[in-house]
Amino acid sequence: MLAPSVTTVARHTTFQLTADPSVEQAHALARHVGAARFAFNQCLRLHLDARTQPHGDRGDGGAGDGVRVPWSGFDFINAFNAWKCSQAAGRRFLIGSDGGAVVEVTGLAWRGEVSAQVFEEAAVDLGKALRAWTDSRRGKRAGRKVGHPRFKKKTDRDSFRMRNKTAKGRASIRVGEDHPRSVTLPGIGVVRVHDDTRRLRRMLAAGRARILFATVSRRGGRWRISLNVQAADLHPAHQHPARDSDDHRGWAGIDRGLHAPVVVATADGTQTMRVDAAPKAAKTAQPKTRRLAKAVSRKKKDSNNRKKSVARLARHHEQVRTRRQHFLHQVSNLLVKTHDRLVLEDLNVTGMMTNHHLAAAISDAAWGELARQITYKATWRGGTVLVADRWFPSSKTCSACGVVKQALTLAERVFTCDACGITLDRDLNAAINLAAWGEKNYSQAPDPEARGRVTNAHRRDGSGPRARAGETSLEDVGTGYAPAA
Ligand SMILES: [Zn+2]
Repeated sequence: MLAPSVTTVARHTTFQLTADPSVEQAHALARHVGAARFAFNQCLRLHLDARTQPHGDRGDGGAGDGVRVPWSGFDFINAFNAWKCSQAAGRRFLIGSDGGAVVEVTGLAWRGEVSAQVFEEAAVDLGKALRAWTDSRRGKRAGRKVGHPRFKKKTDRDSFRMRNKTAKGRASIRVGEDHPRSVTLPGIGVVRVHDDTRRLRRMLAAGRARILFATVSRRGGRWRISLNVQAADLHPAHQHPARDSDDHRGWAGIDRGLHAPVVVATADGTQTMRVDAAPKAAKTAQPKTRRLAKAVSRKKKDSNNRKKSVARLARHHEQVRTRRQHFLHQVSNLLVKTHDRLVLEDLNVTGMMTNHHLAAAISDAAWGELARQITYKATWRGGTVLVADRWFPSSKTCSACGVVKQALTLAERVFTCDACGITLDRDLNAAINLAAWGEKNYSQAPDPEARGRVTNAHRRDGSGPRARAGETSLEDVGTGYAPAA
């Protein structure tokens, strides 16, 4: 038997709560949202102003010799702090006793009305956005091209983030303080929430969890509080037992498809799981989406009725999204509970999305999100996930004799091998091939002894279900969202 992995990867989960703020609190939350947007935009302005100076550093490596251009989150925090107290941020003209005008520097007048952390986190966000842009431009970043950060506008998806700071042994973000269903936020107070917080409170009390951040967002007219939590490892009873180091078997391949969302099989041809019907969330909801979108377009611009229609449409989109996420979490939970060794195909989702006929269906199936969930959840349970390389022809290969077919259209639901004559379900064939790929390639994978190891892990953005295990990496805190589960 192997010893459990000693490299403890911190388990980051998010707890999604729906807030029920008082009228005053809602105003305060809205003020913080506005402040976060303002700070982001002001930092961007400071950055662009400095960059367009003749001797500014343009971020292409060549250092400017004159003006120092802020690039990192740290730079922006300093730049914003200096700016907010300066004459540029606010001043007042006073008439002195001798009748002459005196300029009094007031700085940003309302800076005391919101928590300074909101400014800092917005500055950090801009630093990250600029980083993503420069990395993408230099080809150091995989995936879609990242554009230059733009000024933020007022939208329905506004949010702000606060870090949990500890002072005198007391955390600034607390749960269930005045009421079991409440979250205490610095500068805002005890905000009631709709959700049960018992599990989180118990974890916090037992020292098995620590709140790192709170992200407050408004979506579809609703306030949500997302708590980013660092949690202890799952109880060993919820983890898969370790396998012997020379055991290369027991892999199950996962075929994700448009027809059957998930088909799982082992190398010997046993189908271990099959999900036939996905709630094609967006498609099912389409008539309603169309109706609501039309209602918006019929309303007069800038009218109150239009605002109401927009809110209705946003609420609808939110429901569709929640339903889809709920389904993905159910599938990924079941998968990682019942399998300890999984193989995923490396779907070039970004590339496939350029096929417009498939794009809507693929985005609905949310393949990338499913892979992400499987990957992090498997790690928590001591399982292993391998990603087959992109060019492995899992669909075109015959799982019986290994002959690769030249052509296979998407419409062919049944795989028929021209060489050996076997006929089987197309998705099942692909899943078997992936499982076989795992058995064949696992021995070559470096350090097979590390339990819970994940190869070629996907980008970890987004988060998990409400009040359950989900994950957000620290780099992406605040961008994620998790639904009910
Ligand atoms: Zn064959």
